[in-house]
Amino acid sequence: MEKKISLYASVNKQLEKAAGIMGLDPDIQAILSKSTNEVRINFPVKMDDGRIEMFSGYRVQHNDILGPYKGGLRFNPSVDIDEVRALAAWMTWKCALSHIPYGGAKGGIQMDPGHYSIKELEHITRRFTYAIANNIGPEYDIPAPDMGTNAQIMAWILDTYLSSIPPHERKNCLHVVTGKPLASGGSVGRTKATGQGVVYCIQEWAKMRKFRLNKATYTIQGFGNVGSWAARLLKPQKAVLLAVEDATGAIACASGIDPDQLAVYVEKNNGVKGYPRAKAIDRETFFRTKADIFIPAALESQITEHTAPLLNVKIVAEGANGPTDPVGDSILQKRKIEIIPDILCNSGGVIVSYFEWLQNKRSESWDLEEVDGKLYKRITASFKETYETAQKYKTDARTAAYIVALSSLEKAYKERGIFP
Ligand code: NAD
Repeated sequence: MEKKISLYASVNKQLEKAAGIMGLDPDIQAILSKSTNEVRINFPVKMDDGRIEMFSGYRVQHNDILGPYKGGLRFNPSVDIDEVRALAAWMTWKCALSHIPYGGAKGGIQMDPGHYSIKELEHITRRFTYAIANNIGPEYDIPAPDMGTNAQIMAWILDTYLSSIPPHERKNCLHVVTGKPLASGGSVGRTKATGQGVVYCIQEWAKMRKFRLNKATYTIQGFGNVGSWAARLLKPQKAVLLAVEDATGAIACASGIDPDQLAVYVEKNNGVKGYPRAKAIDRETFFRTKADIFIPAALESQITEHTAPLLNVKIVAEGANGPTDPVGDSILQKRKIEIIPDILCNSGGVIVSYFEWLQNKRSESWDLEEVDGKLYKRITASFKETYETAQKYKTDARTAAYIVALSSLEKAYKERGIFP
């Protein structure tokens, strides 16, 4: 059996590389290489048939020097303490890179949400929220959607959180969670925000490299929230989607797959398998598909020593968190395939989560033009800062993004000092 490589070890490898190049204070590096708090909860839930099933859930709070902990909740069988730790650290770097006043956290429940009824999912979500209610809060730790969770689940979290705290503390707590449905305090533009950010980054890269997106070809792994929105938003750019892989299989069509039609099919059929306007292909053929752009938007550790040599693209735009492991990364670098790193490329989600949080705090509601305009301004500024830093240090974009993030964190520690 293939040995599972620790994802958190990969995060620390990336941290070490950037720290070495920028000359990060070793004391600050030691602080940042550990998470602050880690909560694991085992809890029972009554299923529709009366059985009791036990679940394991996690919330890891990595660092809060720059502001309250912030990060998604993932419902997936892969969820374990190592994965959640890694995802929480990436949130710290991502918020620092975007210059939004948040720290990093992540959580999740080890389960396949597809195996449960809506009623069971609600009970699992509510029971978990009740158990972690003392560890989250609108000014302390703010969850959001991630793989396997969505706006409906955020609404249940909000409702359960409000029911779990004393009435006199309930004042304005809408901002305890972001990514909510609109009527429950959500923001316009949040659902598509991560995919929108991916597309803004691809457009900036195309401008920088004088590359035409019109008729450019691309492939996507994962056609959930991030992948499907990135594809739908690339359609007006006239880019051509050649192949898609998700948990159910992979499909390809040389004349192009319509992202809107595929999204309707996936919504009905829970995956791309069987899509009638494309042919089924195997995983290796999917990775070998020649295209200009590859957007991984599913799980971590997908571009590895086995798959990196297969890729035949100019650029990898990382919609997912951690889709490229350190060996895959060095293979892509040797093969001169560029990477728009995850902490930049998928930061649209947390940026618009921040906008939702601000709107809730101020009892405001912004229109889509304002949300998209502010997202564009922030993410393109991060893009510019990342690529200027890459030039300055003569390094790759991922290491440069880390250097920007780590510089902000180091500055805050130096100014504030260590208690006592
Ligand atoms: P989602 O649950 O909406 O979709 C996940 C997709 O991945 C699905 O299409 C699923 O079929 C596919 N998938 C799962 N296992 C797979 C496998 N073994 N092989 C191929 N495909 C597989 O999740 P999402 O919210 O779109 O998140 C996708 C990625 O983007 C995750 O890495 C997540 O952490 C990251 N991300 C999400 C957000 C957000 O706002 N939702 C923000 C930043 C980063």
